[in-house]
Amino acid sequence: MDKKEARIRILGKIFMYTVEFFHRKGFVQLMPVMLGKSVDPLGPDPGSSVVKIPEIEYNGQVLRLVTSMILHKQYALRTFDRLFIMSPNIRLERKERMKSGRHLFEFTQADFEIANAKMEDVFSIVEEYYSGLTGFLEKEAGEEFKVIGTEIFRFSPPFKRYTTKELKERYGEEWERKASLEHEQPFWALSHKREFYDKEDEKQPGEYLNYDIIYPLGYGEGLSGAEREHEYERIVMRIKRDGLDFKSYEAYLKYAREGFTPSAGAGIGMERLARFLTKASHIKDVQLFKRVPGIKVEI
Ligand code: AMP
Ligand code: MG
Repeated sequence: MDKKEARIRILGKIFMYTVEFFHRKGFVQLMPVMLGKSVDPLGPDPGSSVVKIPEIEYNGQVLRLVTSMILHKQYALRTFDRLFIMSPNIRLERKERMKSGRHLFEFTQADFEIANAKMEDVFSIVEEYYSGLTGFLEKEAGEEFKVIGTEIFRFSPPFKRYTTKELKERYGEEWERKASLEHEQPFWALSHKREFYDKEDEKQPGEYLNYDIIYPLGYGEGLSGAEREHEYERIVMRIKRDGLDFKSYEAYLKYAREGFTPSAGAGIGMERLARFLTKASHIKDVQLFKRVPGIKVEI
């Protein structure tokens, strides 16, 4: 086994741990969808830079390649209270992202959602997820880590929490990279101005009930999530405010009008987690079929 093979094997083990973890915590696993009528607009989000969301016409309908299943998760809460999907996402990131070391145009996230949950519920699930991962990998992937010559990272929650305002004051606009380099444990970055489905704090307009996990040592963002806007009027107001095309959200808005359940959730990027744990200089090193923005696909 060489280093490349070891990294790919470790990603598979992380996947296995993730599926088992969510089942153990009582989540129902749903299969991914790859085409949707309404999909995540991925913006406005300073962290996102997709060139376009591809559409195909099939059977008299316009379908979009799934950028994330957030809108489908809200719909799925009509049936299940706790759900997760190992969800492949297509995001045609602009080619400059090639150099970030952490962008792919095809990747997989462990995407979960919990009915009637608040941020704190998500924090405790996520911290439990990370802290159990170390022991699992010691048991299941010791050989692989030996081959790459890396110690298995010890997560020690609870992770520190900062608002993006605090981070910007301390590190400036490039807070993510700088703060990541200065930390030795992951931390939570709270309250980002981004997509319409992330809940705005009604007590403090302009503040958002959303959060990221930032991996330490320069690896950067590994998870994003939020409490969700679930009331039809607020969703419409947010879509308007973002200047999005209502036509793309017709399907979603129909269900929003019937009423969504309040919820909170998050998505954990599998390749980013494997990159961080295996200390790979570029995220492509955990992929066999490389999907790097700006680089031609081989097969
Ligand atoms: P998001 O909610 O858009 O932040 O996506 C959830 C998670 O998926 C992120 O926190 C990352 O771990 C991962 N992710 C997002 N975009 C990419 C990308 N272009 N390449 C690899 N992983 C990504
Ligand atoms: Mg994000």
